[in-house]
Amino acid sequence: MPKADPSMLIDLHTHSSVSDGTQTPTQLMRAAVAAELDVVALTDHDSTAGWQEAMTAASGTGVLLIPGIELSTRIQYASVHVLGYLFDPLDAEIVAETARIRDGRLHRAERIVERLAVDYDLTWDDVLAQSSMGATIGRPHIADALVARGHVPNRSAAFASMLHWRTGYVEPHYAPSPRDGIRMIAEAGGVPVLAHPATHGRSSVVAESHLRELIDVGLAGLEIGHRENTEAGRAQLRRYAEKYDLIVTGSSDYHGDGKPNRLAENSTAPDQLERILTLGSGSEPFQG
Ligand code: AMP
Ligand code: ZN
Ligand code: FE
Ligand code: FE
Repeated sequence: MPKADPSMLIDLHTHSSVSDGTQTPTQLMRAAVAAELDVVALTDHDSTAGWQEAMTAASGTGVLLIPGIELSTRIQYASVHVLGYLFDPLDAEIVAETARIRDGRLHRAERIVERLAVDYDLTWDDVLAQSSMGATIGRPHIADALVARGHVPNRSAAFASMLHWRTGYVEPHYAPSPRDGIRMIAEAGGVPVLAHPATHGRSSVVAESHLRELIDVGLAGLEIGHRENTEAGRAQLRRYAEKYDLIVTGSSDYHGDGKPNRLAENSTAPDQLERILTLGSGSEPFQG
């Protein structure tokens, strides 16, 4: 197992064009080197398809690559993202469930585009033109298509208008419960960490009784360092982490040019990475 040095720069949440990042896994690894990262995790939404390319690109760079995912889960209308590290990518349940989520996302995106097409000049081909083959499709690809058609200036503007819930074009997609998502990552030898759990303020941070249920099925950590977590929410999360001895991470949630988030704008302490490396048994980190 690679040893974590106290001066290491560690970013455990990034997206490539395998989901809704704007850079290929190869370009993302180059960006990680340019940002002087020692450790980077590739965590595409609902897909492990970028792992191989990222490993090839990491070779010879000295960067330690942690294979990961950001799994979509949902309770009613509330979307809950679960980061998973070092799980077995061939685990039957993970393979089946991520395929089901990606399929649900695809059909949901087609329906969103059908609704948008009533009011805007936009086709499904426009969306395909903005996504790479086999990518996990999401609202960002629709946003890029709206930008390409000149309806909005950038992704964020699309999210603030047509792709916002209140305008009625958007609908949720299939996703398992947080409990099932966390359980399946843990059962596949992985380390499940709740992604940005305080984006909607302290009142929306997971209730303690629910958190305990999630810990019971294997939740190992909380992503507290994330630009969208509120201050009050972070304070609550720190209390939880202390009380339940959870791993604490901080990461960028880098999407290339798709979001303002920059690599290493938040980072994870080496001792916390050490805990992830010790717990994860379903796949190996790759020392590039
Ligand atoms: P979806 O998964 O289809 O519901 O879309 C949500 C994804 O869009 C998340 O991964 C976000 O990172 C991304 N996203 C959300 N808001 C924005 C924004 N303002 N600009 C760019 N990307 C965004
Ligand atoms: Zn994303
Ligand atoms: Fe997320
Ligand atoms: Fe993310």
